[in-house]
Amino acid sequence: MGRAQAIPSLHAPAGAVQARVARFGEWLRDHQSAIRRTQWVVVFIYAALLIVPALAPLPDRTAHIWTHVTLLAQFAFWGIWWPFVLLSMILVGRSWCGLFCPEGALTEIASRWSLARATPRWMKWAGWPFVAFACTTIYGQMVSVYQYPKPVVIVLGGSTIAAIAVGLMYGRDKRVWCRFLCPVNGVFRLLSKLAPLRYRTDRAAWDAWDPETGRNGAMKNCAALVPIKIMEGAATCHMCGRCAGYKDAVALELRSPNQEIVEAFGPPPSAWETALITFGLMGLAAGAFQWASSPWFVAARQWLAGWMIEHGFTSLLEPLLPWWILTNYPDQNDMMSPLDGGLMIAYVLATAAVVGGAATALVALGARLLGPFEARRLHHLAQSLIPIAGCGVFLGLSALTVTMLKAEGLRFSFVGPARAVLLAGAALWCVWLAWQISGRYASDIARRIGAVVCVAAAVAIGVAQWVLLFWVW
Ligand code: SF4
Repeated sequence: MGRAQAIPSLHAPAGAVQARVARFGEWLRDHQSAIRRTQWVVVFIYAALLIVPALAPLPDRTAHIWTHVTLLAQFAFWGIWWPFVLLSMILVGRSWCGLFCPEGALTEIASRWSLARATPRWMKWAGWPFVAFACTTIYGQMVSVYQYPKPVVIVLGGSTIAAIAVGLMYGRDKRVWCRFLCPVNGVFRLLSKLAPLRYRTDRAAWDAWDPETGRNGAMKNCAALVPIKIMEGAATCHMCGRCAGYKDAVALELRSPNQEIVEAFGPPPSAWETALITFGLMGLAAGAFQWASSPWFVAARQWLAGWMIEHGFTSLLEPLLPWWILTNYPDQNDMMSPLDGGLMIAYVLATAAVVGGAATALVALGARLLGPFEARRLHHLAQSLIPIAGCGVFLGLSALTVTMLKAEGLRFSFVGPARAVLLAGAALWCVWLAWQISGRYASDIARRIGAVVCVAAAVAIGVAQWVLLFWVW
């Protein structure tokens, strides 16, 4: 695609800062070919980090990040890429998706030559973001995706091949994969609601736009399948900039990071979103990061192993299964028996059930205190937990960064206090969101305080998972 001609926009939000932000959106619109080239560079680096380590021997104990490609790829994928992509969702919305993501770029490119079939109904099932996230998280733990390169090929490479296949089948110049099936789509949708940036359509300017005299009317392809005219919120927008200035009505703008959650922009918060926040991010993800350090896991394993030996089930204590089902690297002295694998899955699911169940029940109680029970209010109030849910996963992922840097001899005395500050800040943010949301349903102060106390208790359960992991165990 050639460089589009820069077109000044008539629509500029009030204020010099807003005008500058809007101009940046238009700058992105005018540099789509540079964005495309950048995406190819990211695709190339991604493919190299995926494939080369899988062909190289595993590193020995003397290897360093800068001397062994496997450690370099591990650090790039899990130490930098994942935690900071998550963080970027809160800072700049889904710009990663629209500007850099190799999978998004490949599925869109593939869809240029697609069969252009309509998206099937099964693919639009609202539960996919939760199910895909849960399955990927558990499978990643089963095969130790953070430690070994071949599981990375299966998890990330498999996802990329599926993205290309979906691109070749459905839509034309679209990202059907990203919209419906990407395993992190749900998480990105939730976190980007907190972003202080979004593309906004001014409906009055859109309606007043005259095709005879108006400018910027060339039809825009929104690959992310966002209905630009009625676009609300940042959850589904990939921030690619292509629609900036369209019909002199669309502009990138700064906003309050609380606005989308408090005002519940766009599609109403759903039960699946609530499940992803409480059972998925606060429960299942915490369990996945915790189990290896948990004394409860160790105690349960010892008891079960004793019971199995007594009853002649010793084969379940052997590493029977191949590496692509359960971790099995005898040379590294790193193997999981069916007992280890089964218990790990049980631990992660139990954490999801207990944490998610308790947090959901508390939020439901909070919603009830605001008036007669309504599912809509429960799901709206549950959105106030997004900061602590996202913060926990960021801390879990960044713990890998810290561990890898420690292995290189680097020590960071600020890590503990920084974790405490982040958890405290996220918890306070949740409470503030709950207070604001409660104000939309009740004016009675006592009811609002009751609802906020319930949310605060749910937040405390979320915080406790990370306190146990970082400070108690
Ligand atoms: S609405 Fe679509 S075209 Fe516009 S910035 Fe978002 S993803 Fe890009």
